[in-house]
Amino acid sequence: MSRFFSQDYATLTPYVPGEQPKGQQKFVKLNSNESPYPPSPLVIQRAAEAAGTLNYYNDAASRELRQTLADFLGVQPENVLPTNGSDEILYFAFLAFCDAGHPMAFPDISYSFYPVFAKTTKIPTHIIPLKDDFSIDYRDYCGLNENIVIANPNAPTCQTLSLTEIEEIVRTNPDNVVIIDEAYVDFGGESAVPLTKKYDNLLVTQTFSKSRSLAGGRLGIGIGSAELIADLNTLRNSFNPFNVNSVTQAAGIAAIESNDYYMENCRRIMDAREWTYGELLKLGYAGQPSKTNFLFVKKPGFSGEELARLFREGGVLVRYLGGERTADYIRVSIGTREEMQTFINVAAGIAARKG
Ligand SMILES: *Cc1c(COP(=O)(O)O)cnc(C)c1O
Repeated sequence: MSRFFSQDYATLTPYVPGEQPKGQQKFVKLNSNESPYPPSPLVIQRAAEAAGTLNYYNDAASRELRQTLADFLGVQPENVLPTNGSDEILYFAFLAFCDAGHPMAFPDISYSFYPVFAKTTKIPTHIIPLKDDFSIDYRDYCGLNENIVIANPNAPTCQTLSLTEIEEIVRTNPDNVVIIDEAYVDFGGESAVPLTKKYDNLLVTQTFSKSRSLAGGRLGIGIGSAELIADLNTLRNSFNPFNVNSVTQAAGIAAIESNDYYMENCRRIMDAREWTYGELLKLGYAGQPSKTNFLFVKKPGFSGEELARLFREGGVLVRYLGGERTADYIRVSIGTREEMQTFINVAAGIAARKG
């Protein structure tokens, strides 16, 4: 730390991304919830074409992408805002709707970036514990009279709220913004996007990083009332109007045009997930069923840290997230069926160590 670093950030603990292995050893990479499938051929082609125009600034308003997204989601262009990953729109939302007198409420076990955003934007938080089985009791959020962010499905706990429960949270907090982070909605969840037409206090965020094979392209979106989106756009234009580069804009449009390709990949990932979950239970691992592209599991007799180390020794990268209530757990992204076979082989070897 330099002598010049603001005291405000002296205690900031940044978000830690999963390991991106470099070098000789080939790992099966199941630690960052990426898609094991490459972008569609159309995405690769359009991205390459767009790369030829990188000498020009990109369209700061992402007009064509916004129109494509709006048509796809059944909303108007003024209801959707593309950003540099959904992390960026979440950050803008913390900035836009919270301040010293308006905290952000979220579960104790959820996306580990939420507390970091709160710290960076210097806003207070209201942390609400999940139930013992790691489910969210939606009633904890009804009539809260605070801004709320909930990942649905929740990460890393894999569990979902129903649309009825989400609507009840939104309806009973009419003077606050409710953010539903749908990073994993394509793997079996129900989207709250239709509710954005009925409620002006609902912001839905989605990402192209998980189900649409574009993690390295950085594309996220926010969907909500024209007024909410205009506020977020004001912040975007006050920070970095060129936040979505031209290659990513072209890739995003092509990704929507290739929707069938991605939905087929999601189906394969969900099949591989169900198979993996069944095999893990047979081997004595425990965890809840998942509606995401990952599983959150433990093996009695092992700590989560130990499990992550043993999997790494077996050539498989999984994620250990720590945390008081989740220290026994690892998060395992779902890869191809072949990758999951390798994972299960290693999981069986680990289980055999402590029968
Ligand atoms: C991955 C993830 C995001 C952010 O993804 P981006 O790559 O920034 O679009 C947001 N929320 C949750 C819960 C996630 O798991």
